[in-house]
Amino acid sequence: MQSPALDFLLDEGPDRLPMGFVRETLSCIAKTSADNIFSFCNMLRFRKGVRMNFDNDYPPQSPYSTGLGGRCPRCGEGKLFSGFITVAEDCGHCGMKFSFADAGDGPAVFVTLLGGFVLLGLALFVQMTYEPPVWLLMAIFFPLTLIVCLGMLRPLKGLLIALQYANKAEQGRLED
Ligand SMILES: [Zn+2]
Repeated sequence: MQSPALDFLLDEGPDRLPMGFVRETLSCIAKTSADNIFSFCNMLRFRKGVRMNFDNDYPPQSPYSTGLGGRCPRCGEGKLFSGFITVAEDCGHCGMKFSFADAGDGPAVFVTLLGGFVLLGLALFVQMTYEPPVWLLMAIFFPLTLIVCLGMLRPLKGLLIALQYANKAEQGRLED
């Protein structure tokens, strides 16, 4: 998808890019990100279920340290992932089943919004400040985007699953 910012850059040339345009683009992205994060948190809240089996034999773990570190949200010891972003079947340490884990599109949404916001802002800043040729901008930002997005995916997925566990959020279903 061609972005309006890129269209503008290619059509108008970097020397005519006004600061107001940059500010407007960034604030628009920031607002969209905030809206999405808000509705995602709301969704998690409404999905709180009562069917998940949580036991209290384990001291509460911080969802941030266990999630970002890719460790089991209950004991904080076992591995949460069996692949790069594949969730393991159960915890090798405490045996908790990870079948409740359903981060859905959440990690990708956050990666897109946060990564996109930071990288686009950075790209615009570099363009405005140094005015490098387009090929150089691409050569820097294409690999950088890959690294940042792939790097954020796993910690964010871990974090969302750990938050899901901590908030006892589960897919809504009918009582049987
Ligand atoms: Zn565990």
